[in-house]
Amino acid sequence: MSRLSVVLPAYNEELMVAKTCRVLREVLTEAGISYELVLVNDGSRDNTWEEIVKAGKKDPNILGVHFSRNFGKESAVFAGLAQATGDVVAVMDCDLQHPPETLVEMYHLWEQGYEVIEGVKKSRGKEGFLHKKSAGFFYGIMSKATKVDMQNASDFKMMDRKAVDSILSMPERNMFFRATSSWVGYHTTYVKFEVQEREAGESKWSTWSLVKYAFTNIVAFTTLPLQFVTVGGAICFLCSLVLIVYSLIQYFTGHAVAGYTTLLIVLLLIGSAIMMSLGIIGYYIAKIYEETKRRPRYIVSKIIRGSEDAYDKANHDGR
Ligand code: UDP
Ligand code: MG
Repeated sequence: MSRLSVVLPAYNEELMVAKTCRVLREVLTEAGISYELVLVNDGSRDNTWEEIVKAGKKDPNILGVHFSRNFGKESAVFAGLAQATGDVVAVMDCDLQHPPETLVEMYHLWEQGYEVIEGVKKSRGKEGFLHKKSAGFFYGIMSKATKVDMQNASDFKMMDRKAVDSILSMPERNMFFRATSSWVGYHTTYVKFEVQEREAGESKWSTWSLVKYAFTNIVAFTTLPLQFVTVGGAICFLCSLVLIVYSLIQYFTGHAVAGYTTLLIVLLLIGSAIMMSLGIIGYYIAKIYEETKRRPRYIVSKIIRGSEDAYDKANHDGR
């Protein structure tokens, strides 16, 4: 009989771990699905790990992975995928914002032969104007890069073993999971779900971390910003052609003295354009530098399966 692994990245989720495990166990048992819960403690500063250990004592289907520090959600998802042993693997948040009933629906789609089942948000929930606009911009770029509409994409998905192995075999350190799952292709379908309210604890995303997240992922996935530089250069060139013609006319009609302001403005504009372009290029070089170091994606310091220590048998840094 086939087995479902559910990967749950958890960062400071002490209030949610026990409840999430219980709800998932109930829902999956009722649906008659044999399962395994892979909880990845992403260097939490609260008692998340103790909660995972406690949950493991109650349920042998729980696999707990403990990071040596916080490596970020993307790495936690990756570690979960690497440890999961099921024939089909789902990834969902540990705060029950992704409805467990949808998991069952996804499983049935997998049984019908779909290999990647993407969770798509029905609506994006409550968000400020600025947040909405910048998220729109970010997903616009990502959609162009992946040629898939990412506007309502989420990290809630289910993948066949084949797709999981494809993702795990990719060598890059900086990986945008949401887009990678569609990049690998396979027989894909979509399931709509309503994002639930978080019951306890708080969202881990500050505005700044979202901006950083957007930049990292755009750079990890597409070289489109480098083309901005080229387009910007072309626009500057056209403007300067116009200005050259203009100043030549001024020269030949004998009005050449004025124009200091124009000169200054042009100088400043071009200067800032060059600096921004260098910034974008520099950012890519920085990422290339990081990738060439081939540091591990994460470091695991403890692993439990149910109530047993499973550290020895496992891969500890996802290389
Ligand atoms: N998370 C993580 N590492 C981090 C930040 C978040 O593993 O550095 C996990 C978190 O525990 C949760 C999921 O990622 O299971 C989504 O985080 P959160 O609920 O804070 O994000 P939101 O739902 O507000 O987008
Ligand atoms: Mg959440």
